[in-house]
Parts: sequence; structure tokens; C-alpha cells
Amino acid sequence: MKHIVILGSTGSIGVSALEVLALHPDRFSVLALTAAQSDKRLADQCSAFHPKVASIVDAQAAQRLEGRSDLGDMTIYSGVDGLIKAATLDEADLVISAIVGAAGLVPTLSAIRAGKNVALANKEPMVMAGRLMQQEAHKHGVTIFPVDSEHSALFQSMEGHRKEDIRRIILTCSGGPFRTCSREQMQRKTRAEALKHPNWEMGAKITIDSATLMNKGLEIIEAHWLFDIPASKIEVIIHPQSIIHSMVEYNDGSIIAQLGIPDMQIPIAYALSYPEHIPLELPPLDLLKEGPLSFEAPDTERFPCLAFAYKALESGGTMPAVLNAANEVAVQAFLDNSIGFLDIESVIGQTMDAHTIVPLETLDDALAADRWAREHAAHVVTKFSSDSVLMKRAGHA
Ligand code: NDP
Ligand code: MG
Repeated sequence: MKHIVILGSTGSIGVSALEVLALHPDRFSVLALTAAQSDKRLADQCSAFHPKVASIVDAQAAQRLEGRSDLGDMTIYSGVDGLIKAATLDEADLVISAIVGAAGLVPTLSAIRAGKNVALANKEPMVMAGRLMQQEAHKHGVTIFPVDSEHSALFQSMEGHRKEDIRRIILTCSGGPFRTCSREQMQRKTRAEALKHPNWEMGAKITIDSATLMNKGLEIIEAHWLFDIPASKIEVIIHPQSIIHSMVEYNDGSIIAQLGIPDMQIPIAYALSYPEHIPLELPPLDLLKEGPLSFEAPDTERFPCLAFAYKALESGGTMPAVLNAANEVAVQAFLDNSIGFLDIESVIGQTMDAHTIVPLETLDDALAADRWAREHAAHVVTKFSSDSVLMKRAGHA
């Protein structure tokens, strides 16, 4: 029996993970669930899965949870400390890291430092502090299993092969909802349009990242740290059907790929049950019905976020953490309708340009870079948001 902690159980990945766990009660038991502020959803999950611990960041939400008499004998924690307690419980065998954004760094790193194996969906900590995460994992004998579908595909395509034989890895990318749009069209795209992903149902932040292609940018950096592959060997190819989840090319020209329907239960289940492929109640992939699988080159002129990610990786030090934080601030501002779609990339670009890189060796270095970038990006957002108000007044947006 594996005792599982889910950090971010109320989100899109968290819910999919619980669906997988519910299919295999003989293999997995739910030890702890956590959320930021969705106490009602967390309470529903607790009454269905009976964890020993529930943790919710918001103090008032924690009080409401404590007031629920129907939840039985369960320990409730709150605040960031509560997340850390849940992530480091003695009985925990595996921690599913599914918080969105930089907020996952401290709890995920705490799990690693407590010697817990991690199923990593929360890619932002790997982007911010990949070297540190891997150093700590190595030091504490921890395995980090990828949950991101591309990285799970890469992981599976590397099984049984020699790393030194890899010529390049090819990350596939759906291209997002604006794949065929011109810059002029993208300029006018609304929040609602950007939130309509063609193939995947995901949380709001990653859905916007998929529209700007920053998601793929973050995944390049994630792949670099997860698999210790240099940026020069990481390529992106647009594959609108999202059936091939990524590929590894070897020196002899062989390419190994992993295919499947676009459902996160598949990579989640593999991270939970590695090396076994456990059954899931999903429709099979019907290649005859999928029609032709197609491929296109990515266009960094229309989607500069992809180029920003390569630049951040090449620059090293604190730059990936700055890229990540500026992106989080810009995406939130877009979701709040404060800036336009193309302003997201401008906020990131201007924040990166203003940053003086320093080496990133400790958690404090990562958190300081994150703080600096958030402040700077917020300042840039203010500039764009007043521009966008002026544009609206002038009837241009
Ligand atoms: P969601 O927004 O759907 O869920 C986020 C979860 O994190 C919720 O449980 C939320 O709680 C919790 N949370 C949010 N902010 C904080 C915080 N400050 N402190 C603690 N907990 C917090 O995100 P997704 O599930 O879509 O994504 C999660 C991660 O997985 C992201 O890093 C994403 O990039 C990655 N990922 C997601 C995929 C997907 O298909 N969704 C695919 C591949 C990777 P609450 O409900 O209370 O707000
Ligand atoms: Mg992905």
C-alpha cells in the first residue's frame, strides 16, 4: 500500500490524481490533501477519501473546515506551514506535487528534503530552481517522477535506452488556441478565448501559458533539469492533435515516442505506479479515427515566449526564476483583464531585460529572485494596464 499526499488536490491535476487513486484502493491510500482556499471542494474530497490530514492555506477556510462535524477524525492544518507538514508526514510514501506556480517550491522541496519520492506536475519549481531540486533529490535518495505529459513521454521513451546515445529530445506542443492567429489577431484576444484550449482541460494559469506557448518554454527548462539534457538538444515541434506526447531521437536516427489520448490520468498513473502500467477506465486511442497526425515548426516570431525560455536557460543563475515569476504576474494580470494578451510577453521580456543575473545556489536565492521579479513585473503591468485603459477609452480594444 502506497500512502499518498496530494499538494493541490482541488485543482485539475489533483482531481485527476484522485480519480486514479479511486480506481485502485488496493494499491493506494490517501494520506493528506491540500488546497489554497477551496474548503468546500476539499471537504468533499475528504469525505470521499478519508485522509488523516487536510491542509488549507487560508486561515478562515481552515476554520470552516474545522467546523465540519461530518469529516470525522482528521487533523487540519493551515498556512504554508500546514502544506509543509502535509508534504513531510512520516507515513508518506509519495507526494504528488500539483500546486500551481512558485507557491509549490517550498512544500515540494520540503518533501524532497524529507526523503519523499515526488510525482511532479508543478513544473514552476523545477524552472525556478532545477539544479537545487535535483541536488536535494540526489542527496536524499529521492526519485522525481514526471507527471507533465511530455516529460512522462520522454521518461517512458528513455526506459531501456542509454542516455549517452540520445541525439535530441523532441517536445510536442499542441500550438494552443491561437496556433494559426496573426499577431494582430492575438492582440485582440480576450480572456475567454485564451481559456479555450483545443485538447486539454486544465487550470487557468497553464491554459494561458499554453496560449502564449510559455508552457512549452517552461517545459524546455523542466526537461533540461529532469533529464540533464542541454538546451541545444531540446527541440519543440507543433503537433496539433496532442496524440504523440513527446519523442526521443537516438544517434542511429531511431525515434521512440509515447502516444495516448490527451488525458492526464495516464501520466499521473505511471508516476504513481512506476514501473507498472496500471489499468485506467479511459477510452482507448483509436488511431484510425484520429485522422492524420500533423507537425509544424514552432514560430518564435509570433510566440516569443518560447525564445525567452531558451534565453533564460542559456543565461542561467536566477534568470529562469525571473522568467517564471514575471510570467505568473503577467498571466494573473491578463486573467484580471488588466492587460492585453500580447502584453504578457512584453511584461516578461522587460522584466528579464532589467534583471542582473546572480548565481542561484540556495532556496533563499530562488525566493529572492522570485520576489524581485514579481515587484518589477507588477510595476511593468501598471504601465501596460493604464495603456490598455487608454486604448479601451479610445475604442481600440
Ligand atoms: P489548478 O489551478 O487547477 O490547481 C491548483 C491547485 O493548487 C489547487 O488545488 C489550488 O487550491 C492549489 N493552490 C493554488 N495556489 C496555491 C498556493 N498559493 N498555495 C497552496 N496551494 C495553492 O492547476 P492545475 O492542476 O492545472 O496545475 C497544477 C500544476 O500542474 C501546474 O504547475 C501546472 O503547470 C501543472 N500541470 C498541469 C496540467 C493539467 O492538465 N492541468 C498538465 C501538466 C502540468 P485552490 O483550489 O484552493 O485554489
Ligand atoms: Mg505538458
